[in-house]
Amino acid sequence: MAYDFDLFVIGAGSGGVRASRIAASHGARVAVAEEYRVGGTCVIRGCVPKKLLVYGSKFAHEFEDAAAYGWTGLAPAHDWATLRDTVAKEVDRLNAVYIRLLEGPGVKIHMGRGRLMDRHTIAIGGPNGEQTVTADKILICTGGRPEVPDLPGREFAITSNEAFHLPELPKHVTIVGGGYIAVEFAGIFNGLGAKVDLVIRRDRVLRGFDEECRTFVHEALAKGGIKMRTETQIARITATPDGQGGGKAPFQVHTPLGGMFETDLVMYATGRVPNTAGIGLEKVGVQLNKAGAIAVDEWSKTTAENIWAVGDVTDRINLTPVALMEGHCFADTVFGNKPRKPDHRDVPSAVFCQPEMANVGLSEEDARRTLGELRVFTSAFTPMKYSFTAHKQRTFMKLIVEAATDKVVGCHMVGDDAAELIQGLAVAVKAGATKAQFDATVGIHPTAGEEFVTMRTPRAEPAPRKAAAE
Ligand code: FAD
Repeated sequence: MAYDFDLFVIGAGSGGVRASRIAASHGARVAVAEEYRVGGTCVIRGCVPKKLLVYGSKFAHEFEDAAAYGWTGLAPAHDWATLRDTVAKEVDRLNAVYIRLLEGPGVKIHMGRGRLMDRHTIAIGGPNGEQTVTADKILICTGGRPEVPDLPGREFAITSNEAFHLPELPKHVTIVGGGYIAVEFAGIFNGLGAKVDLVIRRDRVLRGFDEECRTFVHEALAKGGIKMRTETQIARITATPDGQGGGKAPFQVHTPLGGMFETDLVMYATGRVPNTAGIGLEKVGVQLNKAGAIAVDEWSKTTAENIWAVGDVTDRINLTPVALMEGHCFADTVFGNKPRKPDHRDVPSAVFCQPEMANVGLSEEDARRTLGELRVFTSAFTPMKYSFTAHKQRTFMKLIVEAATDKVVGCHMVGDDAAELIQGLAVAVKAGATKAQFDATVGIHPTAGEEFVTMRTPRAEPAPRKAAAE
């Protein structure tokens, strides 16, 4: 049977755009449906605008530090509208770049919501009604979305989606959640001058990351002025009747045992869910896993013969470079005659909180669970830049070495430019570098990074739970 397209892709985010244009470059006839904006979460309301806001907010520390280096007359005020609108303009520019990336190799873009009618038919809703097209193969890359728990007053809360478009910078922001998006936005709002409360259910932020690193970050956030409301839950949010202009903050946040505090903005960042609803998966035999994500095999193939899925909707590792890798592998395998599986081992990642955290390989806890004897090297120090500044941002580094093989199986850093440094070290870890090879590497002086090749004495066991953040 002749289909309209060889491949139909639902969702033009990181995974969808990469898969579409690579499949088209292999000669496939490709179309993609996008219901919001081409570029997806990363470009439109994730990594890119978030990192630009992080850059914007970090100037606060730079101005402070500059005084110690002799700069005077720096008492700048920040204009939120300028930053917000500049970031929005950059997002528009990138949106246009991504459209060109698709159109260049001939991918047909359908702006509208795609849903599966049967295994080869897709309906696309748009401003001019619904249209159907057929395709031999289908790729689902619908990503994920933030979810606000079902509690009274949830309508007063925003998510990261709305944080990029605030009409003005609130004086007091309450962020609920302890994951990477929560701590990143806490740093952004704190840097821009808002009072920030971070409400977390547990005792520390960043569950799942190396314990020492997360403790270091947690303490540094508190020291940086963020109010850490640990082991706290929210029962409901209410609007104060005279909030607007009445001298009171617009919202009240209530805890289950009767506690209450006022705030100008509540932002929920407690989790994201895969976008699997309302796209006809049940009609075509695409099954979900226990977590509600699309179940796929190691080739990203779903339980339906001609349907694949990549990116956040499969909830493997929810990062842009991983969605790109999965999309690229799919296109090369299915349309390029170059079969290759995505490799999810040793994926480096970063949290752009302030101080920044990045890592590649195993946390100490995972290494202890899965490997034999370890040698762990740590270093906590004040980098040269902060020798005589008032604000002293300490750095923490950690190498985890498998004793039997001498392989560096985990590499972690909290501190300035952690993501930039760890990206380089990720090549070494992925290549299976040994501690002896780290030791044989000459440092670049004077840098913080040279510490990674000069840590010589393993930490005494048992491991302390806390790194020295002070
Ligand atoms: P997405 O990029 O989410 O794309 C899915 C697309 O599908 C969207 O455009 C959506 O509109 C569209 N869509 C959904 N349903 C339909 C439908 N039925 N029909 C048509 N279109 C549909 N990752 C990093 O690596 N580094 C970071 O620093 C980072 N920061 C982040 C910060 C924030 C605030 C957020 C929310 C995420 C961040 N991420 C980061 C994660 C990253 O954005 C995602 O992992 C990545 O975008 C996943 O790509 P994807 O293709 O799976 O989905």
